[in-house]
Amino acid sequence: MSHLPAPTPLQLIREPSIAERGVELWLKRDDLTHPEIQGNKWRKLRYNLVEAREEGHDTLLTFGGVYSNHIAATAAAGRQFGFKTIGIIRGEPTDTATETLLTAARHGMRILWMDRAQYRMKDDPDSIESLRVQLGRHYYIPEGGTNLLALPGVIEMVNEIKEDYDYICTASGTGGTLAGIVAGLYGRRKAIGFSVLKGQDTLTPTVAQLVSDYTEQQFDNWHITSDYHHGGYARVTPALIDFIRQFKRDQLVQLEPVYTGKLLYGLYDMIGKGDFPRGTKIIAVHTGGLQGLAGYREYFPAGSI
Ligand SMILES: *Cc1c(COP(=O)(O)O)cnc(C)c1O
Repeated sequence: MSHLPAPTPLQLIREPSIAERGVELWLKRDDLTHPEIQGNKWRKLRYNLVEAREEGHDTLLTFGGVYSNHIAATAAAGRQFGFKTIGIIRGEPTDTATETLLTAARHGMRILWMDRAQYRMKDDPDSIESLRVQLGRHYYIPEGGTNLLALPGVIEMVNEIKEDYDYICTASGTGGTLAGIVAGLYGRRKAIGFSVLKGQDTLTPTVAQLVSDYTEQQFDNWHITSDYHHGGYARVTPALIDFIRQFKRDQLVQLEPVYTGKLLYGLYDMIGKGDFPRGTKIIAVHTGGLQGLAGYREYFPAGSI
């Protein structure tokens, strides 16, 4: 499973308003892991694939929405590493056949739909068992790829960073990436998760649980901010879209509006407000997710984001 290039580079964000605050902001370019098995989705899958192989599985089964980065990564990784893949997609077969799903299907993923009511129950033992009966033996990966085995791959990402820094920040959805970062820091430095969901009161306990299950320790050098979700999951504001365009012009780095755009927007805002003392060095993880932009092109004309 080591066919993918690592470590990914660190890039200094050259931005006068940040320099004025005496802060350094660096981008960990984890979007460069692989064009299709990108960023944190690769980091979280990696040791799940090792486990699946050790347990003698030939099929991976996982879940996601019609634009899911995790579905895209699982389909591509299955193809590359020789697993069959099944993607259980939230919604109805009449929903849009997005680029994400078309590409996953081209990689050989079997696409099955699950209505929203059933999807909410997908992690119940009964639902898991009935999928096993219907679809045969498979290695089960939860939505977003977040489970205990997601952590060691993210810890490797943290360990790639040899430079000194004060904060490491990520966009957070299911919390697996932040949990891996906190476990990797092991009490050193500080971590901030930028929630991309509105009203996520389960995110902090989920991350704390994953960290303590993995390390058998508890750490308090991290927190989650809910100030930058822009209305909730996959919601955007004009200010966010403008920010992503400007960032690309200034830094020559593509972000997307669901995760990394919200992270960098939030960090620019916090730095601008003086939330970090002079001399603070911050690393923002570019967790990838760029395949999802194909879906946004349906809303924003080519090249406009
Ligand atoms: C899934 C995803 C996240 C969120 O990661 P979690 O481990 O679910 O918190 C962040 N960024 C990108 C690009 C993602 O695809």
